[in-house]
Amino acid sequence: MPVYELAQLTWEEVRDLDREHAIAVLPVGAIEAHGPHLPLDTDVVIATAMARAGAQKLADRGRVVLMLPALAYTVASFGAAFHGTLSISTITVTALLVDVARSLTDQGFTLLALANVHLDPEHLTALNEAVKLARADRLLPIIFPDLTRKPWGTRLGDEFRSGACHAGQFESSIVIAERPESVREMIRASLAANPSSLSRAIKAGKRTFDTAGGPRAYFGDPAAATAEEGARLIDALGSILEEAVNAAL
Ligand SMILES: [Zn+2]
Repeated sequence: MPVYELAQLTWEEVRDLDREHAIAVLPVGAIEAHGPHLPLDTDVVIATAMARAGAQKLADRGRVVLMLPALAYTVASFGAAFHGTLSISTITVTALLVDVARSLTDQGFTLLALANVHLDPEHLTALNEAVKLARADRLLPIIFPDLTRKPWGTRLGDEFRSGACHAGQFESSIVIAERPESVREMIRASLAANPSSLSRAIKAGKRTFDTAGGPRAYFGDPAAATAEEGARLIDALGSILEEAVNAAL
């Protein structure tokens, strides 16, 4: 089975698909500061890579999978003070996701799977609210593997597990593998590691990258990133998405 790109099909091609068994995959990213070396759309790049890898695995097992165009705007309050970050409200994100789910339901789709690597707590709240509202409204189920929860996060490397995982080795590796021309290589290679744990800072009540110990909007070790690691991580993220979808079906 091929993976279909919804936006590139015609309406008659969608009409003729086996929509009763079709899974829609929506990459959800952010426009947010990612250190001095990665572009603002880093989470869109990573979510799209995760979505594509997961969609291909599902399609290889005979599922009808449609990739939706990525959602690039969301809550990004931790990075809001950095130039270029565009942060919108949780209520807007939730409403948009529920409306997309409603439209997909009307169109006869079975499941909406979100591919998400943006771990801002308010953003995760917005996604979880959408999951709940879709259920309450009897829409198609919205699901997403929450990478901050076990067992998923344990499969994404030591840096991810340490919580120092914003624009560090994890995210830089994936962007190098996926879109190398957008990485500022000279800067990346010169960055000192920042072991401050963002997840621990969040638990301690910090609400910005700066107060969490990331004055340049990165955590972890960007200089240690490699394309090989990125390819491995994209495959791991794809497997996580595939497993989450299979668990929901
Ligand atoms: Zn990110």
